[in-house]
Amino acid sequence: MNFENSLAFAEGLDHIDPLRDFRSEFYIPPHQGGDAIYLCGNSLGLQPKTTAEVIAEQLASWRQFGVEGWFEGSDPWISYHRRLAGPLSQIVGAKPEEVTVMNSLTINLHLLMVSFYRPQGKRLKIIMEAGAFPSDQYAVESQVKYHGFNPEEAIIEVAPREGAYLLETGDIINAIRAHADEIALVLFSGINYYTGQVFDMKAIAKAGHEAGAIVGFDLAHAAGNVPLRLHDWEADFACWCSYKYMNSSPGGISGIFVHEKHFGDDQLKRFAGWWGYKLNERFKMTQGFVPEAGADGWQVSTSPILLMAAHYASLQIFEKAGGINALRQKSEQLTNYLEFLIEQINQKTGKEKFKIITPKDIDQRGAQLSIICTQNGKQIFDYLMQNGVIGDWREPDVIRLSPVPLYNSFVDVYKAGTLLAQAAAKY
Ligand SMILES: *Cc1c(COP(=O)(O)O)cnc(C)c1O
Repeated sequence: MNFENSLAFAEGLDHIDPLRDFRSEFYIPPHQGGDAIYLCGNSLGLQPKTTAEVIAEQLASWRQFGVEGWFEGSDPWISYHRRLAGPLSQIVGAKPEEVTVMNSLTINLHLLMVSFYRPQGKRLKIIMEAGAFPSDQYAVESQVKYHGFNPEEAIIEVAPREGAYLLETGDIINAIRAHADEIALVLFSGINYYTGQVFDMKAIAKAGHEAGAIVGFDLAHAAGNVPLRLHDWEADFACWCSYKYMNSSPGGISGIFVHEKHFGDDQLKRFAGWWGYKLNERFKMTQGFVPEAGADGWQVSTSPILLMAAHYASLQIFEKAGGINALRQKSEQLTNYLEFLIEQINQKTGKEKFKIITPKDIDQRGAQLSIICTQNGKQIFDYLMQNGVIGDWREPDVIRLSPVPLYNSFVDVYKAGTLLAQAAAKY
């Protein structure tokens, strides 16, 4: 599409946007009597207006039934998580039984590594991207230590080439091949949080399996942002949070995926709890853990129903909007428009004020653009924030902006571009 840098053009795009009405289903934080320009869905998605209502329904069940709410009411809590697994499995490209919701993300990463990081002999290493989200780094480091290994030796990090910000798929594959006989686990994010780069998960899964390793993904920045095909790619496991692109409340419940090929494996170790016990016999409360079939067998603790309700409210909106593919179409346009406006600033000033490190190739990015400010970055970011653009700042010089198709408009993006141009002129 040929974009134009004008309010009328942005309004025109909003006018023909089939998803434009979804914005009114969210609370947009206010700024000086109007709406803030919220471009921070990569960090915390906005609150759907239905969330309070859906949570209130469960509070009402609790009021009315007390403990009987587990089995009474229109959606008994005992199987409430299954209502989420259907829509969620569509978002991540899985079968419903391969998906469940439980705990929070880093906890789930640990639990899944208990099952799927199984060092044996020389095959003990974990290969991952350099510059992974800190929580993932700490989780991996502590898992490796837990097994008695030295992180310096047991963790292989694949880094971008000298002077580059992004990883080449070929370099990832080559690194996996080069260490084929010593890696137990290939663990990558779906999208790197800092650069916004989407990794080629299909190719990584294939290379990992050819090397004889297990392959897992952390999809915190990918789930609800880009279409995924976890089942077809044959990922062994994955986990993600629901509070970034899935708008399901701060610290909201996390999702996991376990590929069905592992369902029959009774050698898999797990850190078990009663909520993962075979449902139809759970309340016999007998000795000896017998897991429920599918991903549900990884649950540990009693379902946090209010968090699940918040997630359910959001998943209903995803379905109503026509699913992740419909959202992705608009998302590509929104992000392309933001990129266009930023490139215009560089062209007009004749300087590279802003350097976008996120890939130009739309298949290698989601909603987010990560923008290096070549000078006075912090002042530029503060100027945006003072003028109602909510993005986020990552040391030393990166602004991350993520227009989200459910609640951002092309006018939002246009206004953010205008403010960036003003900031660039000022600083
Ligand atoms: C956001 C994010 C997390 C956060 O994990 P929590 O356990 O929810 O705090 C972890 N990993 C990645 C890759 C993330 O993007």
